[in-house]
Amino acid sequence: MTSRPAARPGITLPGAVRRAILDHARRQAPLECCGLLVGRGRKVGFAVACVNVAQSRTRYRIAPRDHIDLRRALRAFSPPLEIIGVYHSHPRSRPEPSLTDIADAAYPDWAYVIVGRIGTRLALRAYQIRQRRVRALSMRAGSPSRP
Ligand SMILES: [Zn+2]
Repeated sequence: MTSRPAARPGITLPGAVRRAILDHARRQAPLECCGLLVGRGRKVGFAVACVNVAQSRTRYRIAPRDHIDLRRALRAFSPPLEIIGVYHSHPRSRPEPSLTDIADAAYPDWAYVIVGRIGTRLALRAYQIRQRRVRALSMRAGSPSRP
């Protein structure tokens, strides 16, 4: 049997999108922020800030209205743009899915991006959550102007 190195699944998250997510997290602190990631395939084009109807420091719930409106707006694009993930913040804890995040993850193909604290800094991490199993996703900036 030959063993091939397993391709680590990943997403492309441009620097401008990362900065938008970090800015949203800072604005919303100490509450969790949340939003949807729009793009094609595994490539995020932009992030859409949404209302966190949970208004909580420890959990998030995308306003259903925001989700519905965004889906409707994306139908106008050709080729189609899709919601390919969701992001939220952990103002006081690490960027790792909480038990609630795992239990509530309803989209097996989405990327779940979390911005959270590592020491004094905010950091972003991405995951796939399928049937309550969490897998880390690599993140690429996907920009030639990467410093
Ligand atoms: Zn969380």
